[in-house]
Amino acid sequence: MKSPEKFETLAIHAGQSPDPTTGAIMTPIYQTSTYWQESPGKHKGYEYSRTDNPTRAALEANLAALEGTKYGLSFASGCAAMTTIMMGYQAGDHIICCDDVYGGTYRLFTKVLSKFGLEFSFVDLTDLSKLDRHKKKQTKLVWIETPTNPLLKIIDIKQVAQWAKKNGCHSLVDNTFMSPYLQNPLALGADYVLHSTTKYIGGHSDVVGGFIGTTSEELFKLVKFNQNNLGAIPGPMDCFLSLRSTKTLAIRMERHCDNAKIIANWLNEHKQVEKVIYPGLSSHPQHQLASEQMKDFGGMISFVIRGGLEKARQTLEKVKIFSLAESLGGVESLIELPAIMTHASIPADIRKSLGIDDGLIRISVGLEHHEDLVADLDQAFRE
Ligand SMILES: *Cc1c(COP(=O)(O)O)cnc(C)c1O
Repeated sequence: MKSPEKFETLAIHAGQSPDPTTGAIMTPIYQTSTYWQESPGKHKGYEYSRTDNPTRAALEANLAALEGTKYGLSFASGCAAMTTIMMGYQAGDHIICCDDVYGGTYRLFTKVLSKFGLEFSFVDLTDLSKLDRHKKKQTKLVWIETPTNPLLKIIDIKQVAQWAKKNGCHSLVDNTFMSPYLQNPLALGADYVLHSTTKYIGGHSDVVGGFIGTTSEELFKLVKFNQNNLGAIPGPMDCFLSLRSTKTLAIRMERHCDNAKIIANWLNEHKQVEKVIYPGLSSHPQHQLASEQMKDFGGMISFVIRGGLEKARQTLEKVKIFSLAESLGGVESLIELPAIMTHASIPADIRKSLGIDDGLIRISVGLEHHEDLVADLDQAFRE
């Protein structure tokens, strides 16, 4: 059952209560590996910190509440979360994955997990008829990211989840680009929601982490079992930092969206810009769907600058407020070139067929004043 409280209230209170021994308002960093037992097997719920840790438990309850469920698990990174999920499948299983997927996901699937007999099909799921076309007898999971990265294509979560249920497989949504504030895949029927909490949830570019939520007790138990076996856990300090961050997630996301809208519109009018990709623009091919399944359009913008790779490189060297760096979702604005940076692990011919142009620039719009951000891009575009 969804808790009666609203997102902002849950963000500050869910999973947390004043420390019983001291009254500390903030959940302490329980920097301990093991726990005292009163008698063998008689303990206060904690035995060993690979299995459970109170700081981590608070973060897990908090993020689960924000995704509208009670089942959540935190991980050492988004990649640790992805690996752990995949350990729930076995050799011979087939996974359908959206084609324009995070570079690290693509690399994990094709370079690591394929060695263990898992089979992957990468498919453009803006066209859902492709699900039927790529389905095999052994298809067990549909993995999507929406908006995709870096082309910001929007995939219909509800339809994917329905198809998966009808065809006896699970559906997973990597919700990193949206954060739980802007999109809740479990409410749309998905079996799993996954986050790299390194991005918007952490929000300050100072902690790496991952999260998995599910509404199914059975799936939760499976992932929890695998996590405990694999050891893919975050440390208590990282959990503390992430828990501090969720308190401001709502207001941060609102400003990310407001700033991004202003910049997307400005880019759209700029004569040196060939194309702007932002789900909030009415020119975006899935603008309607985006308006339906997302609360707002997010802080990520991709655009193609006239003059190809050379001009793009020059622009990235000239920015002063935007930082030239990978990653996204922090308070500071970042700018990067997917073909050379985040998506370099995808072979050049596949990049081209996906439409990841060498001159495609991706920006993560931060929380600086929008006028300063526009002025920075404006000076960087000049010869
Ligand atoms: C960063 C990212 C990941 C991987 O997360 P890490 O925390 O870097 O391991 C997965 N999916 C998306 C969409 C990401 O942006």
